[in-house]
Amino acid sequence: MEKVYLDYSASTPVAPEVREAMEPYFSEHFGNPGSIHSWGQKAQAALDHSREIIADELNVKFSEVVFTGSATEANNLVVRGVAAGSKGIDKPRIIVSAIEHPSVLETARTLTADGVEVVCLGVNREGFIDPQALKNSLNERTVLVSIIYASNEIGTIQPIKEVARIISEFRESKKKLSLGQRSGLREENFLLQYPLFHTDIVQAFQFFKMDLQELGVDAFSISGHKIYGPKGVGILVLRNEWEPYLGRIITGGHQELGLRAGTENVPAIVGLGKAVELVSHDREEEAKRIGSLRDYFWEKLKRAVPEIELNGSLGNRLPNNLNICFPNKEGGDLLIKLDQAGVAVSAGSACSAKAPKPSHVITALGMGEKRAKQSLRFTLGRPTTKEEIDMALERIIKLVS
Ligand code: PLP
Repeated sequence: MEKVYLDYSASTPVAPEVREAMEPYFSEHFGNPGSIHSWGQKAQAALDHSREIIADELNVKFSEVVFTGSATEANNLVVRGVAAGSKGIDKPRIIVSAIEHPSVLETARTLTADGVEVVCLGVNREGFIDPQALKNSLNERTVLVSIIYASNEIGTIQPIKEVARIISEFRESKKKLSLGQRSGLREENFLLQYPLFHTDIVQAFQFFKMDLQELGVDAFSISGHKIYGPKGVGILVLRNEWEPYLGRIITGGHQELGLRAGTENVPAIVGLGKAVELVSHDREEEAKRIGSLRDYFWEKLKRAVPEIELNGSLGNRLPNNLNICFPNKEGGDLLIKLDQAGVAVSAGSACSAKAPKPSHVITALGMGEKRAKQSLRFTLGRPTTKEEIDMALERIIKLVS
């Protein structure tokens, strides 16, 4: 039986070009990039090359790219780092959306034990935050806003540019207020810059060109294994001016601007650079190709099984994502039956697949836990073909009709 993998938001296969680029850095060029000798220099040059590719792609400075062990780690560094760096502020406020990845949401919630106030913005039934609600939540104590660019579960794309504009206007209004009061204290100056605006672009980066300047964002997180690179490597992009205001979470050596101590994973970083290069090479065509396959999939399935319903808007959504509610079917059960029929999908996201609770993202849509338990996520990827979609359709329809 030919198998069909439709879980590319959980992980992607390493591209052959990526594997080839990584190969020499396991045993041949194995030096520590921190070493002075030529072995070290060879490894350092490889890191520099990857950093250059990524900085160019995202329109940021070389020194604004920080390699991490995962996107989870990048999200932790920014959420925990901003909280730790804002010790002078009483009850600092962090604003997140209710549909963040757990590496943002749970991390922020954990910080409430240290006196951080977390404001969690709800989403409407279509899966979008309300920018006006975000505007109303900003106050003098707000140090961080973190809004996911596109949901890993339902694929909905948030109005990031609009949020950036609201934050920028808020900062300007604080500046004017302070100038009026003729305040010149350094502490007050940096209070003025808050909040930092971070967005997790882990799922969106492969489909949309990301320009930090153009978007008006201060920090991005990216993961290697979602873009046909290796697992266990990620990127935190952070504007240089914020670096002094981030508390250090992982301490030790001075790697990665001192923001992420620990010897860099050179082969993985080389692979990540190559993966970014490949994504930028055919991003638009791939988004179009995958988007039309996804639409074909949805139309055929909806016609054959009319009772199914989509979670989240179809209009403003990642081109590879379908999150479908199968009324009167138990999602976990269906997932196992589909796996036995050779079709790999997921219930919610991979990282919470083993958690017994229903998806916090589907429940945030306000449609109840029952719906969350009857829903499955299908995500297409670079290797997906029309033949595979037809095979998957046939097996799904047979199981659910
Ligand atoms: N953010 C989003 C949106 C994700 O989908 C994931 C992975 O599921 C992560 C962060 C975490 O990435 P990593 O597996 O590199 O820790």
